[in-house]
Amino acid sequence: MILIGYTSKGASMSQGIIIQNVYHLLFFLVMCYAWIISKRQVPGIGYWTLNLFLYTIGLILQMVFVQTGLQFSRIIANLMLFSGGLFFYIGFANYTARPVHWKICYVLIFSMIISSLTEIVFSLPLEIFIIINAIYFLVIIALYHTVFIPNFSGWFGSLMVILFVIYTILAGTQIYRIITTLDNIIHGNPSTNGFDLTGYTITAIVNRLMLFTVNFIVLLLVYKKLLHDLQTQVESQKTLSLHLKNLAEHDELTTLYNRRTIEQLISLYLPKNQENAIAYLFMLDIDYFKDLNDAYGHQCGDVVLQHTAQGLSSLLEEQDLLGRWGGDEFLLLVVRRDKDAIAPLLQGMKEMMRDICKQYPDTHGCSLSGGFTLLTTDDTLDSAIQRADALLYQAKEAGRNRIIGNLTGDSE
Ligand code: GH3
Ligand code: MG
Repeated sequence: MILIGYTSKGASMSQGIIIQNVYHLLFFLVMCYAWIISKRQVPGIGYWTLNLFLYTIGLILQMVFVQTGLQFSRIIANLMLFSGGLFFYIGFANYTARPVHWKICYVLIFSMIISSLTEIVFSLPLEIFIIINAIYFLVIIALYHTVFIPNFSGWFGSLMVILFVIYTILAGTQIYRIITTLDNIIHGNPSTNGFDLTGYTITAIVNRLMLFTVNFIVLLLVYKKLLHDLQTQVESQKTLSLHLKNLAEHDELTTLYNRRTIEQLISLYLPKNQENAIAYLFMLDIDYFKDLNDAYGHQCGDVVLQHTAQGLSSLLEEQDLLGRWGGDEFLLLVVRRDKDAIAPLLQGMKEMMRDICKQYPDTHGCSLSGGFTLLTTDDTLDSAIQRADALLYQAKEAGRNRIIGNLTGDSE
């Protein structure tokens, strides 16, 4: 999350660090909890937690420096805050499944160590290190942006845009910090603790406010990921249960309703069947289908079943119901406003079957036989099927290739 101003020994600086420390410690504890409960679901959360850990320790070391003036403690704090910033970046990259620019990370860490050693060994002016730190900050922000920019359109896109804006402002404050520090050097106003530089104080305040927001956004990212996972899980369960329902209700080969479903649907229709409604139950069976299987193979038989199912479906209206009853038999409920609609339907079935069967001339005579019966208000599924089946049997006996109807609904 990166460095903020720290070099003052003043009381206000000390208070500022204490407040910052307390809220970072709180964030760290919340993040630890989030990490424990969601480390498997939220990629990158381990790195974010590590960042907050380093940041909290870094701030404690800053306090030690403010209280004791121990330069070593300040330099180690500096290193911890910057490496925390890098872990923060790795966390974002993992979260958004972006590649990590490891080489840049290694170069940064190496140069940070070198500049820290230089700070310890040579007592160069503080301004030099303020500028170097600002440059590190800018490089790390550039790394963050390689993650934020390509992810504006993701489901976490809005938060990426906010992070992008925050870190762009922070980049601005760092550039401002470099310019004002350079200005100080040029005009020969050396700094004793950094906070006597105007640019430094302003940027430190802006940075704190921004980083406070960033912590909230990271928690929001954790929450969003968990919510997203939950939504995806619910969606996939819905799709799966729809798929299973579909499998359970339909015949795999023809995609028509299977026997159980068509029987259930017709049973549901029966009580609604009004006295003046014209509803017919059809039992249809392909003639000499065994011969067709024997002559052309089972696969051709399957294709004929599929084409017959499609052909029958195309002749029906929305309110009608069609299912595969078993083998080469189809059960069909036809609901019409007037009885005259049945003749064209029968004609359509005959022509449809003739078109399918003409591709298979080497059979005993592939055609369609059936029986249909008018449903009465007293009908049960069994009674209606019995009548339609008896009529189908009659059609077979009479030489096949015909559909015999019982327009009154009486038993023959
Ligand atoms: P009929 O004119 O008396 O109806 O004679 P059929 O040869 O059509 O005899 P039946 O209806 O009794 O036999 C149906 C045959 O359909 C038996 C079975 O080999 C075949 N069959 C059943 N299910 C399938 C299937 O899913 N695919 C294929 N290719 N054949 C099937
Ligand atoms: Mg048959």
